Amino acid sequence: MMDTVVSIKIFLPDRAGEPQALAAIDTAFAKLAQLDSMMSSYREDSEVAAINNFARDAVARADHMAFPISIDLDSVLSVAQYVSSSTKGAFDITIAPVMRLWGFGAEALGVPAAKQINSCLPLVNFRHLKLQRNSATRPHTSRDSSKQNIAMISFEQPGMAIDLGGIAKGYAADVAERMLAQRGYADVLIAAGGDLRMSASALTAGQRYIWIKHPRRPETFFARFRLDRGGVSTSGDYERFFEKEGKRYHHILDPQTGFPAGQNEAGSQTVSATVVANKTIFSDGFSTAIFVLGPERGLELAERLPDLEAVIVFLANGKLEWRATSGLRGKLEIIDAEI
Ligand code: ADP
Ligand code: MG
Repeated sequence: MMDTVVSIKIFLPDRAGEPQALAAIDTAFAKLAQLDSMMSSYREDSEVAAINNFARDAVARADHMAFPISIDLDSVLSVAQYVSSSTKGAFDITIAPVMRLWGFGAEALGVPAAKQINSCLPLVNFRHLKLQRNSATRPHTSRDSSKQNIAMISFEQPGMAIDLGGIAKGYAADVAERMLAQRGYADVLIAAGGDLRMSASALTAGQRYIWIKHPRRPETFFARFRLDRGGVSTSGDYERFFEKEGKRYHHILDPQTGFPAGQNEAGSQTVSATVVANKTIFSDGFSTAIFVLGPERGLELAERLPDLEAVIVFLANGKLEWRATSGLRGKLEIIDAEI
């Protein structure tokens, strides 16, 4: 689901609790399936598609009405906006119109004409996406006529759209962890592609390694480090990309240019950013942003933000180099940094 493979593990002292744990995992997967169908950009019946249709139609009607959104969407969008403002727009879910041009997800991959990109770029601006809370009746629940604060979204420009591919998996992993914690499971590991959320009890504490894949040789690992709890995400140029005329084009776009991010001023090229945070929604959003910002500005930001650690891997003069925050540097064991 969510365009990747999701796994949920619960660690137990013995097999007695296994049937109950499996039932809890089923419940968590049911919620993840629901989140997937809400947040997918590629399903016509998703809530994100409804928002994007609203963005198109409301502006066609030239009104600037707001559109009601679910509590889950509100949670994701609020954090997305926070990540955007603290990265000066390196992370921006309004990248959607440009993302569509590149065809990622729809698998209609190709390099768009610069003219097409430039005509879409003015639509990419998180500051033109507004969230507000209105005291109104939730339209879907006509049975319940009580007034409640509901979140509303509006757009300040015609043609805007959102893409939650850089943050939805992190949110989903957090939701699954919380559901399991509420049932008393305090030692779990949730993996949604490159986004992990975990907790630890005496059973596993001090024993878990996070392994970072080698960015160019999938059969080996670049590095590993110990981590018991929290969220960790990797954004890389090696999972979703295509090559054309010897050039690699991947799915993490620089909202400033509309092109794949990672060409740094110093001539180096970012290949991955791994972020550790207390929640996966933060590690997911910030790993995408730090990838876009690159080794200089990305690491500087990660060092400045509380409760955030990061390692960036990049290519410089044909070699793999890395840079990590002070809190992670000493914990990182490099396994294979040969290219
Ligand atoms: P993955 O989805 O492979 O785990 P990321 O978390 O880095 O990787 O997210 C990449 C996805 O985020 C893209 O597929 C796209 O949907 C979206 N995206 C691309 N560039 C940006 C950006 N600058 N800001 C926010 N989202 C982005
Ligand atoms: Mg991300």
